Amino acid sequence: MPVFTLIFIAALFATTATRLWLAQRHLRHIRLHRDTVPRDFAEQIGLESHQKAADYTCANTRLDVIQILLETTLLLVFTLGGGIQLLADFWQGLVGTGLWRGVTLIASILVISSLFELPLSLYRTFVIDARFNFNKMTIGLFLADLLKQALIGAALGIPLLLGVLWLMEQMGPHWWLYVWLAWMSFNLLILLLYPTVIAPLFNKFSPLQDQALTTRIETLLQKCGFKSQGLFVMDGSRRTSHGNAYFSGLGASKRIVFFDTLLARLNHDEMEAVLAHELGHFKRRHIIKRIATLFALSLAGLWLLGWLMPQPWFYQGLGVATQGTDTALLLFLLISPVFTFLFHPLSSLYSRKHEFEADRYAAENASGEQLIHALVKLYNDNAATLTPDPLHSLFYDSHPAAGQRVAHLRALMKQI
Ligand SMILES: [Zn+2]
Repeated sequence: MPVFTLIFIAALFATTATRLWLAQRHLRHIRLHRDTVPRDFAEQIGLESHQKAADYTCANTRLDVIQILLETTLLLVFTLGGGIQLLADFWQGLVGTGLWRGVTLIASILVISSLFELPLSLYRTFVIDARFNFNKMTIGLFLADLLKQALIGAALGIPLLLGVLWLMEQMGPHWWLYVWLAWMSFNLLILLLYPTVIAPLFNKFSPLQDQALTTRIETLLQKCGFKSQGLFVMDGSRRTSHGNAYFSGLGASKRIVFFDTLLARLNHDEMEAVLAHELGHFKRRHIIKRIATLFALSLAGLWLLGWLMPQPWFYQGLGVATQGTDTALLLFLLISPVFTFLFHPLSSLYSRKHEFEADRYAAENASGEQLIHALVKLYNDNAATLTPDPLHSLFYDSHPAAGQRVAHLRALMKQI
């Protein structure tokens, strides 16, 4: 057996085993703490809500276990099982060896993966979310979303893929630099188009009507020296009763978006604190930092792919006989997560650091007290667990665990 096959199998086994182990720990920890509301939340959250959050998180985590097993199986079938080779031969017979073999091969792998994951997504929405009264989607809306996503994916993805494969073939040994420039331009274009062109295909955005709240928010924006292209309400309640607020877009297309579900639940003081937290992400340059990190990692990844592409062991080790730009790109995209998984805690840590900084900004510019009120309401409404397994949280959570976050805000309030 080729050495690289052994390395790949070992890495895949280690990653899958770690993911399953973390899921089991998470389930056990939540079950163990199911019957007591943590002391910091005992006044605001009742035992029944706490248990609902525990059951909801456990139901989702159990589905995650199936997802992990499915992803691992598919990856093995595609690579060592000969799936990619089979499809590459099939498409080559139909469209020849040119750029279109690459497009059809990569697209068919994506479509097959999505078809296998569809039942899980249906189960999450129509069984789990429905059981806990979060789902507002009809099967018709679900299918319409799916169709729209597929069409947008094809409209944007096929030209991108054609361009990337063409650059890989035509630009000589430094092709990865050109592909990087193209990939970055594509990302920036999506960021610009998303709020005004893509998001409205899925949701209705209407200007915020509440005059008192508008005035309040504009005062905050002015105080923080922030310019935006308006305040919008999104009809999130069409799909889910989970609430959220976010900023989207870059530069001139920057918008502030509130889910209608959030507006219905939070009072003006709490809304102001939540918005101040979001402003904190902008003011502390988190968005720019994240984009810069993505740019740097993409460059490193493409350079690595440039090095791997001419190595026969890379293909043979993964069960593929056809050496080409398309098979190299596809294999690289499929197996990268197996090798980068162990760095996941670092990216989560980076993200949680930003959340703490944004909370500090909210405490300084609005109110830490009100932010805590808002967070507790959101934890409660979204049935987010207050007692995640610490190691699971360390690995995956982009936001600090509820207890840590509230404790951090309370500590800040004493300083300010
Ligand atoms: Zn945040």
